[in-house]
Amino acid sequence: MHDVTAAQGIARTVLEAAAERKAHRVECISIALGAMTMIDPDQLEFWLGQILRGTHAEGAEIEIEQRPLMVRCKECGWEGEAEVPEDPIYHLMPFAPSCPRCQSKSLAVLGGDECTVQSIRVRRAEAGAETDG
Ligand SMILES: [Zn+2]
Repeated sequence: MHDVTAAQGIARTVLEAAAERKAHRVECISIALGAMTMIDPDQLEFWLGQILRGTHAEGAEIEIEQRPLMVRCKECGWEGEAEVPEDPIYHLMPFAPSCPRCQSKSLAVLGGDECTVQSIRVRRAEAGAETDG
């Protein structure tokens, strides 16, 4: 359900942006997906494809950029990439990383918890393709 919810949020963002720009068709959707989200990119792409059926974004190319989980330890100041375990249990419960240096669990997340639309490329009925950064 987690992946479906994320896909629904992304679909809403994409369709709103497409409507705003009076897009005839959405050609490409670029998504930033952080490791902390525990979302399987294949699942996300699958559900997006399902949800976008019958919309202007049907059949759009989906690019998923996976981002590592970056943290800073509030205890010792260690900063870097936290390891995210490949354990399905974390799809059901929140995952709490710990500092590899002092094992503290009070970490600030610097990045890697995002699941957002970075950009979309649309085509208007009367004009050519338009890219938005
Ligand atoms: Zn630490």
